[in-house]
Amino acid sequence: MTTSPILAQLIGGLATGDVEIVDLTTRLGPHTPTLRLPEPFVDLIDFRLEQVSSYDAPGPYWRHHNIHTGEHVGTHLDAPIHWVTGQSGLDVSQIPPSRLVGPAAVIDVSAEAAEDPDFLLEIDHIRAWEAEHGPLPNGCWLLLRTGWDQYGHDQELFLNTDENGSHTPGISADCARRLAEDSPISGLGVETVGIDAGNALHLDPPFPVHHHLLGNDRYGVTSLRNLAHLPPTGAVVVVSPLPIIGGTGSPARVIAFVDRRTP
Ligand code: MN
Repeated sequence: MTTSPILAQLIGGLATGDVEIVDLTTRLGPHTPTLRLPEPFVDLIDFRLEQVSSYDAPGPYWRHHNIHTGEHVGTHLDAPIHWVTGQSGLDVSQIPPSRLVGPAAVIDVSAEAAEDPDFLLEIDHIRAWEAEHGPLPNGCWLLLRTGWDQYGHDQELFLNTDENGSHTPGISADCARRLAEDSPISGLGVETVGIDAGNALHLDPPFPVHHHLLGNDRYGVTSLRNLAHLPPTGAVVVVSPLPIIGGTGSPARVIAFVDRRTP
């Protein structure tokens, strides 16, 4: 049996540790932070395991559970049909795998988000990133590092809600439109609970990242962790949602391959 040189190099790199696998996923359980919509909107259920057997009468040799969960819980993918603008688009089972694996482009605005939790990324931030690192690669996943994963252990800190709504960083309406209509990205990954900023109901259009990206066959992934361990360019990201027929999204395992050899 022969292995192609490209895959042999990858396998060799994994064996020596030169290629590191970074897990970008939030662990999934009943306390994983989830979206809380304002009245009169209705929230999804949180994740829950229901035990069916545990090496006992209903299954003496095995333990297994039913899972109960919303689609948009924990680290998860938003498919086009999640949004009214993408309703004639793909469900999560129809997204080609080639769109779920690609180069990572990591833009770090954690300093800005620490200063201002309502920070919005503008197209000029992306232009400045491109001036340093080159143009966004074809089919890339743009990963927005805000430092928000540090709050992922605590629902209140993570949503950062007061009487004026939720205060978490995101992307401006203009930047979202230009990313959706005039960039080669496959999708956007964020560390926050949703791909839009916490207060994006009040932007024009409301929830502009959902509006523009999902309406233009771009995808979203939320609640990422460990983006600090990725270089700005050069990593490869793998997004693996469950192929739920008719699903508007799915919890997903998201990993990245990173070359740790010093250049
Ligand atoms: Mn979602």
